[in-house]
Amino acid sequence: PVVVGIETSCDETGVGVVRDGELIGEALASSMDEHARFGGVVPEVAARAHLEALVPAMELALERAGITSADVDAIAVTAGPGLATALQVGLAAAKAYSIAWGVPLYGVHHLAGHVAADALAHGALPNPCVVLIVSGGHTSLLYCRDLVNDPIEHLGDTLDDAAGEAFDKVGRVLGLPFPGGPAIDRIAKEGNPTAIAFPRGLSRPQDPPFEFSFSGLKTAVARWVEARERAGEPIPVADVAASFQDAVVDVLVDKSLAACGERQCGDLLIVGGVAANSRLREVAAERAAAAGVRLRIPALKYCTDNGPMIASVGHMLVVSGAAPDALSLGADPSAILQAATLVPA
Ligand code: ATP
Ligand code: MG
Ligand code: FE
Repeated sequence: PVVVGIETSCDETGVGVVRDGELIGEALASSMDEHARFGGVVPEVAARAHLEALVPAMELALERAGITSADVDAIAVTAGPGLATALQVGLAAAKAYSIAWGVPLYGVHHLAGHVAADALAHGALPNPCVVLIVSGGHTSLLYCRDLVNDPIEHLGDTLDDAAGEAFDKVGRVLGLPFPGGPAIDRIAKEGNPTAIAFPRGLSRPQDPPFEFSFSGLKTAVARWVEARERAGEPIPVADVAASFQDAVVDVLVDKSLAACGERQCGDLLIVGGVAANSRLREVAAERAAAAGVRLRIPALKYCTDNGPMIASVGHMLVVSGAAPDALSLGADPSAILQAATLVPA
């Protein structure tokens, strides 16, 4: 089947076309430049940008796929979580295409999309697998038996900030451009990761093994920088960035491999925007190999939000024979990840 996916949960307008599990066309527009001067994504600005970008992105994705709307078998769309106004634009468009093209509509959980992104480059997901989701708004360790057919088990979640959020906040403290994640990744390459010993959250033996906490680390970085500023000393930005990044990466990789051990699971997936981090990719590859765990991370451009990842979930749903959604499907800005689709409260 040919499945079109639409993603509009944040600042990225993404459309992807998947045929029989293979990505055949895509388009992506971002309104990040419009948000950068505010130091964060402005929901109303994002929604308006989606409204302008969506139809051209759809036309471009179909053209690149070499198909017309008549070839499409189903529409999948992010129904949550995300910014309410941004989600509404994608959902309204998906319903309109569903009616106009006479094809079924599938509402998809955004985070399931991040997981399914990996199938586009690396083939069917390993069942079962341990999944580390590290994105702008979420950080969770999951045990996935079968993404579209079984409930998703949460082994642990962050108790405060998401990993991406910590990168973005520390980026701000260091005066780097928004979003902080890519900026820290870049500048950390010139720094010494052992220059400053920042705390590794919840990693003592008595701590919950699979939960995360990054707000203490973020505060520690802010205090360290403030102390330097008060003393009138220059801030070694690259060293702070590299030391902070290593503190995050250490905890993420340690807990992910511990979860693999506890579940006796030989397959680990790392997904979401922070999975684009070069140091995380490097350290995870090294330690997973040493632990005898097979590691999969989506190709770089499919770590952050994109349309193909939603098409990928949609394709899995269609193939598994899942029932489509009614046109009354609503957006849920704070949907919890329990399944590949939204689960009514
Ligand atoms: P969510 O998926 O939780 O709803 P989101 O969709 O906004 O949130 P993503 O698009 O998955 O998040 O990822 C964006 C986050 O990834 C941002 O916090 C960004 O700083 C971070 N990020 C992107 N690239 C990198 C990188 N190279 N290193 C570290 N963090 C990165
Ligand atoms: Mg984004
Ligand atoms: Fe995301």
